[in-house]
Amino acid sequence: MSDEQLGFKAEVQQLLDLMIHAVYSNRDVFLRELLSNAADALDKVRFLALTHSDLVAAVGEPSVRVTVDKEAKTITLEDDGVGMTREEAITNLGTIAHSGSRRFFEELKAQGAESAPDLIGRFGVGFYSSFMVATRVEVVTRSALADAAAVRWTSEGNGTFSVSEAERDHRGTTITLHLRDDAVEYLEGWKLRQIIKQHSNYLNWTVLLDGEPATSGKALWREAPSSVSDDDANELYRSLAFDMEPPALRVHLSVESPLQVAAMLFVPKHRPYDLFNPEADKGPRLYVRRVLIDEHAKDLLPDWLRFLRGVVDSDDIPLNVSRELVQKTPAVRQIRTTLTKRVLKELRKFADRPREEAEDKHPYDAVWEAFGVLLKEGYYHDKLTFGDELLPLLRFQTHNADAGVWQSLASIKAALPEGQDALWYVTAESREAALRSPHLEAFRKKGWTVLLLTDPVDEWFISTVEDFEGMPLKSVSRGDLQLGDEEESQDKADLTGLAPWMSTLLVDEVASVRTSARLTESPAALVDDEHGMSANMERLLRAARQDVGESKRHLELNPSHPIVRHLAALHDAGRTEAAEPLARLLYDDALLLEGTVKDAAGLARRLSALIEQAAAAALA
Ligand code: ADP
Ligand code: MG
Repeated sequence: MSDEQLGFKAEVQQLLDLMIHAVYSNRDVFLRELLSNAADALDKVRFLALTHSDLVAAVGEPSVRVTVDKEAKTITLEDDGVGMTREEAITNLGTIAHSGSRRFFEELKAQGAESAPDLIGRFGVGFYSSFMVATRVEVVTRSALADAAAVRWTSEGNGTFSVSEAERDHRGTTITLHLRDDAVEYLEGWKLRQIIKQHSNYLNWTVLLDGEPATSGKALWREAPSSVSDDDANELYRSLAFDMEPPALRVHLSVESPLQVAAMLFVPKHRPYDLFNPEADKGPRLYVRRVLIDEHAKDLLPDWLRFLRGVVDSDDIPLNVSRELVQKTPAVRQIRTTLTKRVLKELRKFADRPREEAEDKHPYDAVWEAFGVLLKEGYYHDKLTFGDELLPLLRFQTHNADAGVWQSLASIKAALPEGQDALWYVTAESREAALRSPHLEAFRKKGWTVLLLTDPVDEWFISTVEDFEGMPLKSVSRGDLQLGDEEESQDKADLTGLAPWMSTLLVDEVASVRTSARLTESPAALVDDEHGMSANMERLLRAARQDVGESKRHLELNPSHPIVRHLAALHDAGRTEAAEPLARLLYDDALLLEGTVKDAAGLARRLSALIEQAAAAALA
């Protein structure tokens, strides 16, 4: 029988060009596509063998063999799979977007088969990716079915193909790619090996490159968690994270319903250098049906879990024709929720585990120091979905514990002194600045505990934590503070005259001047309005070059302080011209204490004048 010229059964040439140049962004993937087809063919024949005893024999151990001929500029892929009959070759290779694999699968289902092989092919376009690198593709194939003859199928990807008789003793398919001149790079063994390892390392079947195994085939994450050794898992982590240190925590999960997903995720011991680089790649590596789909599938985890490294593998993830993740589908959302809940649960177990004697710090502390800021970000963004899981993972320092001692809200709450009925906190630039805050004075005196919040994200984050197990969180610098049980001091000045007068004097600077219940040592302090923006928030927004208006705060005076007592006496005696510069300096003093002086020159002038007066008075 002579060669028969046949036309592709589709809108041919344009469609082929589209396929070849538009669907795939990276032409390396031709190899992934052809290897996936070979693996499918091997899966199918294994399945057929269950019901057919007279199949055409394979060459030896079933495998996929890739060989390179540098002289002839060809790459050949040979498999011992199910092969194709003449009709199948015409339909499956000659019809774009016809997937013989999908049909195989659907027919089995229609026949009510109990099980079916887990095939990779579905779109019926992968085969054409070979024309990205080849001028001519030659397929010699023989169906595994007993009386089928071998057939040769060739095409130059230009709209026609030809089929003719061929010789082949064993079942299976041999595909020869005659490389384009601009694709001879694929004749390099190392290059092919690298591509095979990257995309097709975990197929069900061994791939041999020029006789040597090119895949390791061990998809650790698909194995039972109890059977995976730390060494193997750490090895996987190293290859994913390029980190010489082992991970702090490994989360290995395998879920069957409602969606099938297997994953192995790692929490590193320290911050990756590019954690806050918005350009950095994020997300776990994604495999679907054992084929690498994406090095960084960022949609599979929330952004605030971007510090995790690992692999996610699911047969249920929807892909488009070029095998990209279809992001906004319920399946992807569901997998993201499953993964997130599980990671948070494992972190909780890790954090709750009692500290071992040999450890001077709990190992969770290091995780918190490296990634706590992201967990806070998570609480801020996803409180509704993951708030309950995140809250127990949060850690805080307090003013009455040593620097570096991290405590959970539960343990802080459990240790509160009698009478303290709120979780008070102070926000500041640093632990030192927080400890210097005049707002802490009354709390120190009462022996109450104050949380120190010094991360830039804290201002945003803490505003979303309204309470912890029914106990409110409150800022020490906000609102009118009533700590109750003030012991009546004899030396307390009556500020009913001074305060309104100073309010008028400083009307451009402050919202009001009032008596303080929070100061014991400092003469005055500025207090955030109950509903306004805090001074720390303003500082942060300014640092981020945001345009923030001036929000006025309250100046609180300590009636027991000598300066305030003297000032009140001066005012009440009608000596307001002498009181005025001192009152202004008192306001300056409050600004200095919290480090927010804006008019330094004015302050220096007022100070000089005062020193001059004081010196003159001393001489007199
Ligand atoms: P898909 O793999 O998505 O089905 P492809 O374009 O990659 O689409 O392949 C089309 C069809 O050609 C496959 O479904 C299969 O029926 C057939 N085929 C391709 N390669 C082989 C092979 N090595 N052995 C047997 N059949 C194959
Ligand atoms: Mg395919």
